[in-house]
Amino acid sequence: MTQSLCESCQNVREICTARSRFLLCELSLTNADYPKYPPQPIVRCDGYQPKGKADEQEKA
Ligand code: SF4
Repeated sequence: MTQSLCESCQNVREICTARSRFLLCELSLTNADYPKYPPQPIVRCDGYQPKGKADEQEKA
């Protein structure tokens, strides 16, 4: 299955229920061009921003 860009995007919020898992796009809260629950998989997205920089800790 194709990996969705949403999986590695910092704008995504994962919503888990007992039966399902949804990917909510937080850009949808401020920009109507983005669906709240984008149809998966997303392979191209202008709003994509890779996660990670905030998670990385640099050693001084
Ligand atoms: S900005 Fe695009 S890639 Fe990121 S969560 Fe929203 S739809 Fe997915």
